[in-house]
Amino acid sequence: MKILSTTIVMLTLTIVLFGCAPRTKEKQLGKFIAAHVEKIKPIRKKASLAYWNAAITGDSKDYDKFSKLQLKIRQIYSNPEEFTFLRDIKESGQVKDAKLARQLDELYNAYLENQIEPQLLKKIVDLGTEIEKNFSTFRGTIRGKKVTTNEIKKILKTETDSVKRKEAWLASKQVGSVVATNIIQLVKLRNEAARKVGFENYHTLSLTVAEQDVEEIDRIFNELYELTNEPFAKLKDDLDRILAAKYGAEVKELAPWHYHDPFFQETPLVYDLDLDAYYKDKDVRELALSFYAGIGLPVQSILANSDLYEREDKNPHAFCTDIDREGDVRILCNLKNNENWMDTILHELGHAVYDKYQDPNVPYLLREPAHIFTTEAIAMFFGRLSRNAAWMQQMLKLSDEQRMEIEKVSGKYAKLKQLIFVRWAMVMYDFEKQLYANPDQDLNSLWWKMVEKYQFVKKPNGRVEPDWASKIHFAIAPCYYHNYVLGELLASQLHHHIVVNILKLEPDKEVSYVDQSKAGDFLRKKVFEAGATYHWNDMIERATGQPLTPKYFVAEFVK
Ligand SMILES: [Zn+2]
Repeated sequence: MKILSTTIVMLTLTIVLFGCAPRTKEKQLGKFIAAHVEKIKPIRKKASLAYWNAAITGDSKDYDKFSKLQLKIRQIYSNPEEFTFLRDIKESGQVKDAKLARQLDELYNAYLENQIEPQLLKKIVDLGTEIEKNFSTFRGTIRGKKVTTNEIKKILKTETDSVKRKEAWLASKQVGSVVATNIIQLVKLRNEAARKVGFENYHTLSLTVAEQDVEEIDRIFNELYELTNEPFAKLKDDLDRILAAKYGAEVKELAPWHYHDPFFQETPLVYDLDLDAYYKDKDVRELALSFYAGIGLPVQSILANSDLYEREDKNPHAFCTDIDREGDVRILCNLKNNENWMDTILHELGHAVYDKYQDPNVPYLLREPAHIFTTEAIAMFFGRLSRNAAWMQQMLKLSDEQRMEIEKVSGKYAKLKQLIFVRWAMVMYDFEKQLYANPDQDLNSLWWKMVEKYQFVKKPNGRVEPDWASKIHFAIAPCYYHNYVLGELLASQLHHHIVVNILKLEPDKEVSYVDQSKAGDFLRKKVFEAGATYHWNDMIERATGQPLTPKYFVAEFVK
């Protein structure tokens, strides 16, 4: 705060002396950015390291260190004087230099979302923590006996008795009535915070600070809805027939508990596809290493800093972290030689090469992916290869017969998986938007209206329960779900562009990408090196010739 007031005094003097407003604003901003980066860079690096250490050791001291540093970062961005300074510069419209303007946008948004009064912020954080705790400690019951989420999922995957399936599904929803009132309260508090900085609700604020326009996202989702409507209806008819036969029921008797997942967000296991056999005698680390080397995006130095295998107390999931925006990029995995971990290591290394191959000449604040969903798109682009028959044939040295075996089911499975997921994500996106627009409406009915509209799954007769509230994302990852869909759309758009315009192949040719260094070059030059220098949609247009569109996702998975 002290440093800042001195800066302002000095900058005011500059204006008086030179009087040339536009240049002055740019100079003021330049100075602010230099001071800001000097302050934030070491804290961010320390926080990333603390998080990394916590993840690989499970040591609570590292977790404490991480949350303290996170709070410190949050405090920097909650400074109201600095926010006002940035807002005034932004509103002056006098920052003409494109890179400075981009940095100003990034800073402005980071400050904007943290302009919450400490008391209100505390209420939001405390309530969020309470809900999260409820979610992690609550156990549903079947006939009075407590069951875990894994047990419920197992029943929904394997049980053939409809009565038992129904009981498991009902158990998965019980947490909803425990947390619903608190979630509604949390939504109202978030809305209160958003209104104080001039937004109609928290949903609009969230998207705006993420540089996403609600109308634009609506348009993309509507187009995807229209384009997938008929194909999804057909695919679901087939699926329903298979499921009904399996459960000895009529198609019209099918209910939400017949779909192998509490929300019908995952693919029911009805088409045999066991790819693990192909991977069990291979080394997924070696495969990933040699694949990335072949496309000209070496990952040796990334893997050298990474933590790849299971250990006690270690985080059991997977993630990628850019420690310093200066080349120290690491991934965490718990590798096994199976298809799922092949997908995961390709996925995490996709995030990693995006971070690793940033252009060091780009300013620090812009040396990051254009958007959270663009890095997700690159990760998905590479992760999809673990089930790609052409890729598997080349990397795993399979025979033509083996490749054909895989192709018989992999295409159908991929289509099913993508369609089921995007239709489910439409429920999440639309419901959440309306939840923030009016948290006092009849949310229980709204939820089933959405499920019926997008997933074609009927509400059980007479059901009046807060089934929506059993989805943890509303509490812990608000207004985020659409990014998974945008990532899938972009992965398909990049794939199409590379196949047709870079590799000059037919659009529907199955491409393995093995040893296609032209593909790696394209991604490095057009996507990675640009960092956040351009708005995400400008980056996509510069790279592929058109803004983000669902067209190629539909061509790839819907047809
Ligand atoms: Zn990811």
